[in-house]
Amino acid sequence: MASLSLKNISKVYPNGFVAVKDFNLEIKDKEFIIFVGPSGCGKSTTLRMIAGLEEISSGELYIGDKLVNDVEPKDRDIAMVFQNYALYPHMTVYDNMAFGLKLRKVPKAEIERLVKEAAKILDLEHLLDRKPKALSGGQRQRVAMGRAIVRDPKVFLMDEPLSNLDAKLRVQMRVEIAKIHKRLGATIIYVTHDQTEAMTLGTRIVVMKDGVVQQVDSPKNLYDNPVNLFVAGFMGSPQMNFIDAEVERDGEDVKLHIGQARQYITVPADQARALVEGGYVGKTVVMGIRPEDIHDEESFIEMSPESVFTTTIRLYELLGAEVYLYFDVEGFDCTARVNPRTQARPGDEVRMAMDLTKLHIFDKETEQVIT
Ligand code: ATP
Repeated sequence: MASLSLKNISKVYPNGFVAVKDFNLEIKDKEFIIFVGPSGCGKSTTLRMIAGLEEISSGELYIGDKLVNDVEPKDRDIAMVFQNYALYPHMTVYDNMAFGLKLRKVPKAEIERLVKEAAKILDLEHLLDRKPKALSGGQRQRVAMGRAIVRDPKVFLMDEPLSNLDAKLRVQMRVEIAKIHKRLGATIIYVTHDQTEAMTLGTRIVVMKDGVVQQVDSPKNLYDNPVNLFVAGFMGSPQMNFIDAEVERDGEDVKLHIGQARQYITVPADQARALVEGGYVGKTVVMGIRPEDIHDEESFIEMSPESVFTTTIRLYELLGAEVYLYFDVEGFDCTARVNPRTQARPGDEVRMAMDLTKLHIFDKETEQVIT
């Protein structure tokens, strides 16, 4: 079993900087865990602590049920794949993959079996006699992966393994990694900056900020139910629109009043109740709505009188399958992702409506989700 347990793990660097704070996570066998977050949030530090390359300042790390805080990296049964997958240039692909096994004095026949098996999984069989300089970037990346696979580790740690590849190769390798994960039934912890990698590969995603875990959830839940403004803004591109609004009561209804002009959104009943019960009437909250949940089709607008607003289009971007419309709502920059058939163009005054089943409302002070 390759489960991992991180209990209150922190990292304080010798200069006193707290890079990771009270990291708690239970990773199940065969999970594909993704760490995401802005540069410097502590992703690599956490990965390096798991690998044993960085000392854990406080907390406990278990692999299976064994406490490994003081176990040497080589004895942790973990393989790490980095972004700069340094291969030995003078060695063939075969020897690069066999190197670690030779060091560990694995019998020759066994080495051959393991290398050939990994080469088959990674589609490297025809390249085993080549030297790294005669390989493409993607092939080199697969060799680096092969080196990890032959060791048959309990856990794979991958730190932005695809970041040096061009866009097309990244997509290919992403699909490869998903296949490898299935085939090997391995536990993988993977650091990335790339949202698509995070959303498509992860069984669960860990979003970090300033050394603190913000949310751990499945890709879909993270996208649909972010717990705070940071996660809501970090996941998704273009990012979620945020608009300050004042909560007002109007008889039975609860309305969100945007800006100085008379623009109102009537909040759906469940969310209205949460706002009233939470004592938000009369206060300013932050509305969050994703670009794909703002629509400019007349049929949608007619069906959604409670969320119609008027704005002037500032910018129009055609991306092929979709159009991004940029505009502001009472001083808040907003984006809508709409159908390319849209008639809206810069300078046009248009009506749009929000899909209020997708409305998020956040506390402006705590930045936590209200409903
Ligand atoms: P990136 O996405 O840019 O790789 P990251 O999330 O992986 O970032 P880390 O490399 O874990 O971030 O670094 C976390 C923080 O710790 C950063 O602010 C970094 O400057 C700091 N840091 C890293 N190593 C040390 C060190 N040896 N001494 C002091 N601070 C360090």
